[in-house]
Amino acid sequence: MSATLLSGKALAERIRERARGGALSLTETGSRPTLAVVVATDDGSTLWYVRSIERAAGNAGIDCRIVHLGPDASEAALATVLEDLSAEPAVNGIILQTPLPPGVRTDALVGLIAPEKDVDGANPLSLGRLAVGQPAFAPATARAVVELLDHFDVPVAGRDVVVIGRSAVVGKPLSLLLLERDAAVTICHSRSGPLEKHTKAADVVVVAAGRAGLLTGSHLSPGAVVLDVGTNVLPDGSLVGDADADSVREVASALTPVPGGVGSVTTALLLLHTVEAAREQSASLVSG
Ligand code: NAP
Repeated sequence: MSATLLSGKALAERIRERARGGALSLTETGSRPTLAVVVATDDGSTLWYVRSIERAAGNAGIDCRIVHLGPDASEAALATVLEDLSAEPAVNGIILQTPLPPGVRTDALVGLIAPEKDVDGANPLSLGRLAVGQPAFAPATARAVVELLDHFDVPVAGRDVVVIGRSAVVGKPLSLLLLERDAAVTICHSRSGPLEKHTKAADVVVVAAGRAGLLTGSHLSPGAVVLDVGTNVLPDGSLVGDADADSVREVASALTPVPGGVGSVTTALLLLHTVEAAREQSASLVSG
């Protein structure tokens, strides 16, 4: 078997188109959406990623404000910026970009992002709301996986789905979204025992561990669908996922590529979330 590659590019373009249309309508009513990205690092690949968000936002008709505090920013300075942006009516969406300076507590800061502006689902309140089925922004990466499954007509209701990784930004919220869609979800992590014990029975495997080559063909049953969230930079500078693509493609029926899979959809969803946030905020202003 040689797995079909599930490219995220067409879906990402469709989502960007929706964001562009929504941004245009809002701009016509005098409320052009604005996304603020708070950065406190000089890490080159992070700054490259932030610039790519800025470019994509501009192309979608969304204003993007980069608030760069530098790599020595204190937790107090970051907290003040997040509180100010949360209170500023002209800002609709806020992203706190990691990594943060050493000693700065991400957990303490993400709780300061107003939930209605939390377009990357970082505030624990957003995760809590997702857990009880209340409206909230899911982290864009988690939603990207679900959107890809929908786009390629991969059913999950009543099927066995294994999520490898239990972080608050990917594994946990994704598991909640899949549960909401009636999947039988198993979450694996570094202490859940041999992967194949779980993945061999899976119809769908989502791997989000940050370990290049962690998932191989021998972990899978023939025909499984694999979504690869991992992004790992190898010493030669190339970007690879968590799946060992060569062996997985021999066994799986479909696999998302890295790059060009989940990641491309994620950025598009950040824009769509910003437009959705702006629409909600402008509607609540009108209704008073
Ligand atoms: P993270 O916070 O480091 O969490 C990694 C998770 O994987 C943890 O739950 C960990 O288990 C588990 N894990 C690690 N090694 C494992 C192993 N050998 N077997 C089973 N589970 C293992 O990472 P993250 O923030 O969730 O990100 C995961 C990956 O997704 C990274 O490569 C990241 O770069 C990528 N990512 C991609 C996007 C995108 O848009 N494409 C967005 C966000 C993240 P424990 O909890 O037991 O430690």
